[in-house]
Amino acid sequence: MNVIVLLADGIRPDTLTRAIESGALPALARLRAEGRQYEITTVFPSVTGCAYVPFLTGRFPGPVGLPGQRWLDRERTWCSFPDYSRSYLGPQMRLFNGDLDPGTRTIFEIIDGGVGAMSIVTRGLRPENAFMVFGIRQAVRATWTHFWGGSRAMFTVDRDIAAAALSRVGQTPYLFAAFATADKISHESGQESPGVLKAMRIVDDTAAEMRSRLERAGQWDDTRLWVTSDHGHSPVSKHEDLPRVIDSFGHRTLAHPNVFRPRTDTAVMVSGNSMAHVYVDTGSRRRPYLSGMSARARALVDKLAALPSVDVLLAPEDESTCRVISAARGQAAVSRNGRCYSYTRRGGDPLGLGADLKDLSTLAAYDACAASRYPDALVQIAELALSRRSGDVVLSAATDWDFRARFEPTKHVSTHGSLRREHMMVPLLTNHVLKGVPRRTADLFPSALKVMGLPIPDGLDGSSFE
Ligand SMILES: [Zn+2]
Repeated sequence: MNVIVLLADGIRPDTLTRAIESGALPALARLRAEGRQYEITTVFPSVTGCAYVPFLTGRFPGPVGLPGQRWLDRERTWCSFPDYSRSYLGPQMRLFNGDLDPGTRTIFEIIDGGVGAMSIVTRGLRPENAFMVFGIRQAVRATWTHFWGGSRAMFTVDRDIAAAALSRVGQTPYLFAAFATADKISHESGQESPGVLKAMRIVDDTAAEMRSRLERAGQWDDTRLWVTSDHGHSPVSKHEDLPRVIDSFGHRTLAHPNVFRPRTDTAVMVSGNSMAHVYVDTGSRRRPYLSGMSARARALVDKLAALPSVDVLLAPEDESTCRVISAARGQAAVSRNGRCYSYTRRGGDPLGLGADLKDLSTLAAYDACAASRYPDALVQIAELALSRRSGDVVLSAATDWDFRARFEPTKHVSTHGSLRREHMMVPLLTNHVLKGVPRRTADLFPSALKVMGLPIPDGLDGSSFE
């Protein structure tokens, strides 16, 4: 069996459904009629780059060293002087694969001859099978401009990606192609804008042409075609200038692009732009956890939690427990014990789960959050907030808010990155009815290995739906 994954970046399940039902995407409509359309969850942070990691490694991004589009290296181990920070939204995008935990095997390290087009995770990908691979100066620039810059040339890039993917279809056991234009257009003009539909038509045309070629080659019945996305989108009109707000509380804040500011004590690293890592007491190389913070930093946590832009604030208490604070709904703790997850209300119910939950498996924890405002929050909070490179405080934005007011290359009328349902749910369209129940984007990786008859490594964050 061969596997093809087409990723339509930033497409919500309802957007795909509407587009299919309008008749605008005939090839995807046919796939849906013969197979099925599911809704699954992405990861926190629900952002491009980090959210590609589960498809290509079967892991969540935090535990494998990629906690956000930007992060601070408090330990000064991985990033360089003087700022010790990372931002993949620029030339440092080339460092993404080096930051990925060396013990994690990518799909390209397992499947001989896999092809990746705009896959961001490229470790193990042979140069001749990589499209827009990093390494050549122009390619780096073209790639990061494509993902983070203006959208003018975007349709052209997506068509080039389609052509590249089509040139290899039928000749590889595994093909991953990502189409980033829909995300860009959504940021600039909203997910409902006509440009998003135009971008989805490129994915539809690609699926149609792939099918036709595979049918002619007699390979269609031996192909799994999965069309999915990496995060959702929601409208935003209010932009919190987080570094200025934190400075106004009496701190000196490091934030991109001004990462060479001297004598800072706090760092803000935004992703999406609806999530942010905040690092406090940054003079110390050790993570303070909530109880070890200076009095000023501890006061900052309370002030951040009270901001109207902050929906949910996460503050790790130690290596296994994270406090969850919502100004409106009070406090609770999320804790992790191996692969078991617990939720303990502490005078509040910030995730709205209605009960304390004790030692749930990853699947039971998933089901406990499935109907809530925060799908998969129990697992996603524990796995991100408790990971080594994450902030001392992690913020998830409120509806209609994000965390960047300045220095954006394009205007933002739509956003993503948070724990909220509209950012966490993504579609999964398959050309066949699945045997099992797909839940997470991390499930695609073991499922691909299973249908190819390959062993599934231990320690993955997803499980096979095949
Ligand atoms: Zn994206």
